[in-house]
Amino acid sequence: MSTFGLRLRKGIRQLKDVLIGRTQITNKLKFYLMIGSVMSVHVLLLIIFYQLRVLPMFFFNICSIVTYLSCFNLIHRGSAYYLSVYFITFIEVVLHSFAACLVLGWQYGFAQYIIAILPVGFYICYMLDINRRKIKIAVFLALVSMFAFILCKLISFYGEPLVDLDNELVEIIIYIINTCGTFAFLTLFTLVFVFEIRLSSNRLQHQNAILEKLASTDPLTGLYNRRSMDIFLSQAAESDTSFALIMCDIDDFKKVNDTYGHDFGDVVLKDVAKITSEQVREKGYVCRWGGEEILILLNNASEESSYRIAENIRRNVANKVFDLNEKWIRCSLTIGIAIHKKREAVEETITRADYNLYRGKRSGKNAVVL
Ligand code: GH3
Ligand code: MG
Ligand code: MG
Repeated sequence: MSTFGLRLRKGIRQLKDVLIGRTQITNKLKFYLMIGSVMSVHVLLLIIFYQLRVLPMFFFNICSIVTYLSCFNLIHRGSAYYLSVYFITFIEVVLHSFAACLVLGWQYGFAQYIIAILPVGFYICYMLDINRRKIKIAVFLALVSMFAFILCKLISFYGEPLVDLDNELVEIIIYIINTCGTFAFLTLFTLVFVFEIRLSSNRLQHQNAILEKLASTDPLTGLYNRRSMDIFLSQAAESDTSFALIMCDIDDFKKVNDTYGHDFGDVVLKDVAKITSEQVREKGYVCRWGGEEILILLNNASEESSYRIAENIRRNVANKVFDLNEKWIRCSLTIGIAIHKKREAVEETITRADYNLYRGKRSGKNAVVL
């Protein structure tokens, strides 16, 4: 099979993948589609002009088709040629409109194609990463299009057409074909543009969500980091509702690291974080406050409710068997609780929770102190 045939088959396969949502449409495929659709219009016009024996336009369209075939080759060579392909298309469409107005006259509607390619320039700026120079080119070409459109009218206004078909039905049919072609192009490009803007804004939102998560959480445990907790704490302090702070610290964690290795220590940390989060859920926020210290902010918490949650966490950790590479150990937590008092600075509440934690450590660890 010829190389052109192979490329065509590859293009059709890519288009199929895009349509079934398997891959995203590439810039190369977009250019192939654009040139392919412009060329198919010329093939249609070629047949019409041949049937009507409008030979100057028939030969013009042969040249156009050859030009677009060479554009396929340029697109195949790579993105460096995309802008040139657009310029060639632009010049061809403008010249074709001039020629058609000169040969047949304005009333056949060929000049409309000049309007149809107007948004393509802006779309290409967007597609090939907008920069100032490219925008200037697109605006400049828009102005050129406007003058070319007016010039088409003037050509027909001041000169007699070279070929007089003398058939009103043919005239109206060609006008309708040209108008449909123009509207189809405009609709297609507007649709593609809107679709792409939506796609990239969705992508941006998704990336923002990932960045937000990365900036607010601790990568090892998945808990909130200290930066996020500072925000939650100041929000809680500003609100009128009562809240409790629960400070948890893994007992003898250094020993775990020293005896079983840092990786095992990480496993323990992750499992403890998971147990803690499961107990707190929507009732507040859990954050990795320091190395192996977890701070919980419980909203609308009383002494009883915060003690109950802390005790559940302590018991679940104490009952858990942590394992890695066929090694098993048990760990415990010591927990200090402080209920925030009205008009108390959050730092003071943290200090009281820390103090209760210290008391728990002093009294033998694996305990909850309120
Ligand atoms: P205590 O019962 O008094 O709390 O004793 P401890 O050994 O837990 O003492 P301390 O709280 O001072 O020890 C904290 C240890 O936590 C020291 C550090 O090596 C370890 N650590 C801190 N962050 C990490 C981490 O991300 N992964 C692992 N594996 N260890 C960590
Ligand atoms: Mg510790
Ligand atoms: Mg500690």
